Amino acid sequence: METSGLAPNARPSAKLDRAVIFLGPPGAGKGTQAKELARKYGVPHLSTGDMLRENIAKGKPLGAKAKPLMERGELVPDSLVLKMVAARIEQPDCAHGFVFDGFPRTVAQAQYLGEMLKQHGYRQPLVIHFAIDPGLLMRRITGRRMCKVGGEIYNIFDRPPRVAGKCDNDGGGLEQRQDDREEVVGPRLQAYQKQTAPLVAYYRRLGRLREVDAAKSVDEVARRVLEVVDGAR
Ligand code: ADP
Ligand code: AMP
Repeated sequence: METSGLAPNARPSAKLDRAVIFLGPPGAGKGTQAKELARKYGVPHLSTGDMLRENIAKGKPLGAKAKPLMERGELVPDSLVLKMVAARIEQPDCAHGFVFDGFPRTVAQAQYLGEMLKQHGYRQPLVIHFAIDPGLLMRRITGRRMCKVGGEIYNIFDRPPRVAGKCDNDGGGLEQRQDDREEVVGPRLQAYQKQTAPLVAYYRRLGRLREVDAAKSVDEVARRVLEVVDGAR
């Protein structure tokens, strides 16, 4: 789901003008924070997971290729994801920056993104690492529910909606993602450790990495994210 409407606490005078990457394991809170940061700056929230789910929902060929892999908790091949991202960041609404959530997920994706950003005249990305004890992730992932209409993210244990099963924003029904069931969590975390965690060292070496303690409350994490983004201008 993409979020580009301006929030009441938006920062219309401050321009993001860069790619911000939220890097961290599934369930760390990237989507929750990416929606918030994107709203504040009035830029798109680019979740490759959401884009792939949209392709599945619309019955697109890309969705058909991605679906069995996603259901097993495996990554979708770089070639498919990169084509999808390249097309997306060429859209005019990306001209003043964007927030990536769940991309890049492999070193090859990160290298290709670096090239794409250069080609489009962007600065190199600011990468925010959501550091968290893996022991917290099962509760966050299995408790996650998403609004079918606007994509708002809830947690039945820790961030429930006001009315059970209904989105606070638009009254849409809440659903559990197929891959948020307990049996798929293990493979997803393994894929993260093996294929995505090396990006922490990759971006640290490039001097692009900033750390956020993702175990803190949503408000505290949001404050720290803003501090990092504003401090990096
Ligand atoms: P990710 O995009 O990294 O997979 P989400 O933003 O979807 O993670 O969050 C995963 C789950 O954890 C959701 O149910 C969300 O409501 C909940 N959550 C997000 N941030 C926090 C937090 N700081 N504290 C407690 N729960 C959180
Ligand atoms: P997410 O919504 O970020 O948790 O992603 C859900 C699933 O979509 C992942 O488990 C992968 O199967 C797939 N996916 C999302 N983003 C990527 C990516 N950048 N590279 C490969 N697969 C991805």
